[in-house]
Amino acid sequence: MSRRFTRTTEDFVCLVCGASVRGDGYTNHCPSCLCSRHVDVHPGDRAAGCGGVMRPVAVETRTHDVVLTHACERCGHRRRNRTAPADDRDALLAVAAAAAQTAVFSAEAVLPEVGSPVASRSAGARPRRRARAGRGR
Ligand SMILES: [Zn+2]
Ligand SMILES: [Zn+2]
Repeated sequence: MSRRFTRTTEDFVCLVCGASVRGDGYTNHCPSCLCSRHVDVHPGDRAAGCGGVMRPVAVETRTHDVVLTHACERCGHRRRNRTAPADDRDALLAVAAAAAQTAVFSAEAVLPEVGSPVASRSAGARPRRRARAGRGR
């Protein structure tokens, strides 16, 4: 028996949503809420002692697959994982939407008033513009 590649096929119960997940050795995250756990340093080795919940923070599409980025709630470690066909599409879309929102809001926070309407979605939505004068600086 040669073991070159650690294929862990254990079933687990998702800590976050409680779904029981059938491990297939390739996916390490919950197909319904897409959360994972920080247990591996390299996939399958269970060498990370952290054990924190890794939540999906970004989704990117590649030519052949969709890649999720997970970030550990406890230590902030990030890792990319390929999605599995069993993964919930709505959950993936929700991650994508949340990531886009975060990107937009953090861009606003970083660049307060540059005056470049990057995404003028609707004429009615205007960025918050409060004159913050009054502090002697
Ligand atoms: Zn779950
Ligand atoms: Zn961690």
